[in-house]
Amino acid sequence: MQTSMKTSQEALRSTQRIKAISFDLDDTLWAIGPVIGRANRLLYDWLGARYPRITQGHTVDSLHAQCLAFFHARDDLQHDLSSMRRAFLRTLAARAQYADDFVEEAFALFYRARQEVEPYPEVDAVLTALARTHPLVALTNGNADIRQTPLARHFHLAVSSADVGAGKPDPAMFHRALAHLGLPGEALLHVGDRPDHDIVGARRVGAGAVWLNRHAAVWPDELPPPDHEIPDLRPLAGLLAG
Ligand SMILES: [Mg+2]
Repeated sequence: MQTSMKTSQEALRSTQRIKAISFDLDDTLWAIGPVIGRANRLLYDWLGARYPRITQGHTVDSLHAQCLAFFHARDDLQHDLSSMRRAFLRTLAARAQYADDFVEEAFALFYRARQEVEPYPEVDAVLTALARTHPLVALTNGNADIRQTPLARHFHLAVSSADVGAGKPDPAMFHRALAHLGLPGEALLHVGDRPDHDIVGARRVGAGAVWLNRHAAVWPDELPPPDHEIPDLRPLAGLLAG
């Protein structure tokens, strides 16, 4: 999709006003599927060795399916996946008639594994270059902690949905970041893979919205289009340079 319909002068004005860049994390800087798959496997094996009534009759996949169903039913915790996962572990304990005193240890195991991400090939080099000229901000609806990943050194600030009590497209995370940076919305360029979360959210605060479309998806026509669409992060420097 070609959404960059601005004239070059407009584009120049818009890029000169960009003072900070925010990034979604999961499926923007790394693929999240393999990370969760590995964390689930570690947790399953850990539980199976210590609390076998929990994993009895389950595969990793069937337990994960139960987890997703649990998550789906808990509207109150959608913005806080760490609390959600702890609640799920407590439910598993109760069902299998174990005390739930292992929940923190089990959660910590999962959480550590969840931070062991493998950035997409171009990410480290692009962020290295961008961080020289712009503060970089991590904005996530999930429980990745950029400070615990191999990309930590590039980031000036991290805000999560759990920090502010609401996930994108709610503007709360953007507002928190902008307040910290002392910038208006239009000074921010936000990059993310989810039209409904990242692009809609960025637009609500007047930020520039870059849709990262790594898998050649079709833009959902019911949503207003992004300012730019990119297949990976490499074009970002060019966008900023006008
Ligand atoms: Mg994402």
